[in-house]
Amino acid sequence: MTTPRTESPTSVGGAAQASCRFCAAPLSHTFVDLGMSPLCESYVSADHVNAVEAFYPLHAKICGSCLLVQLEEFVAPEAIFSEYAYFSSYSDSWVAHARAYVDMAIEHFGLTKDSLVMEIASNDGYLLRHVIERGIPALGVEPAANVAAAAQALGVDTIVRFFGRECARYLVAEGRRPDLIVANNVMAHVPDLNDFVAGFEMLLADNGVVTIEVAYLVRLIAANQFDTIYHEHFQYFSCLTAQRVLAKHGLELFDVEELKSHGGSLRLYAQRKSTGRRPVGERVHELTARERALGYDTLEGHLAFTTQVEETKWSLLEFLIAERREGKHIAGYGAPGKGNTLLNYCGIRTDLLDYTVDRNPYKQGQFLPGTHIPIRPPEALEQDRPDDILILPWNLKEEIADQLSFARDWGARFVVPIPRVEVL
Ligand SMILES: [Zn+2]
Repeated sequence: MTTPRTESPTSVGGAAQASCRFCAAPLSHTFVDLGMSPLCESYVSADHVNAVEAFYPLHAKICGSCLLVQLEEFVAPEAIFSEYAYFSSYSDSWVAHARAYVDMAIEHFGLTKDSLVMEIASNDGYLLRHVIERGIPALGVEPAANVAAAAQALGVDTIVRFFGRECARYLVAEGRRPDLIVANNVMAHVPDLNDFVAGFEMLLADNGVVTIEVAYLVRLIAANQFDTIYHEHFQYFSCLTAQRVLAKHGLELFDVEELKSHGGSLRLYAQRKSTGRRPVGERVHELTARERALGYDTLEGHLAFTTQVEETKWSLLEFLIAERREGKHIAGYGAPGKGNTLLNYCGIRTDLLDYTVDRNPYKQGQFLPGTHIPIRPPEALEQDRPDDILILPWNLKEEIADQLSFARDWGARFVVPIPRVEVL
């Protein structure tokens, strides 16, 4: 295990009028304003609990010109991702998702021992280890040295770098042009979106494929998933905006799938427009047509979100306050980034939520950013027997309710906050 980072994040946001990071038009429309919030992964250690904490605006805007929903960059990614507390292998369902993806990709794209698979933001090797097990060469690119070290320990060759044109140029010079580039849950995290996507086109083998998994804006809106908005997520994609961004950099979207992961994601399949040989599939036409029918090709189609978010906040607070008035004790389960957006926006502190628990030993003994709710090991629930357990990673609610089924013995209730307050 590594020690928590102590350096101050560098603020790079300015007071000047922000402009769209994709098309450079001025950003003047609000998508949703969640107020001031600390970085959602900046867990507070016990010896820092009385220290000053940095809060930044969590104000998502939408570009009136290209419709990209985005947050201004207040914190450089080097301050966020150089040492990262998230180890993908701690989630059983995410590891299973990765294995299923690898099996599909090997068959679908005919990958062999002569192919090369590269993953951008390869984390602790949770995905590429399945590629290597099948005898196919793989290379991870991961900016956080601590998680990259975990991947190396699994035998996954990993370079510690941020991805973009410069990294692509370096790999091409080494003669490493992948047949498959995997970019799962990373395209939202890059402030220089154009540099990142341009790197794919430079690097990809002539008839190679890049698959990109990214949270789906249309699902975020439909299910009130405002807690997936945080400073580390610089942009939020519909299929239409993703297609537009890829096309600008010479990449053609030839297939798309809707996935259930992270509350609703898109898996985008792209190839070089100039040398790719796959026809554009029916699913691309269907999904873009559906988005147009729902109004996602217009600014107005995105602007009713704030009202839904306020309603979610009010109903969660009503539930928690009613329970506390009856003398009940409420504990949280999980300390995910999305929980921190939710708790800070709703103003939930230890008066409403006694503590939360998390399986990740890196987080245990620390405090949630902003709200300073303590993080304890999962065993605390058995000792403490809370009346309600608020499941913060609601996207894993079935898995977690299963793991915690023992708590039903003392009558504990499992509660999820999103899309609306619900007792499972
Ligand atoms: Zn724009």
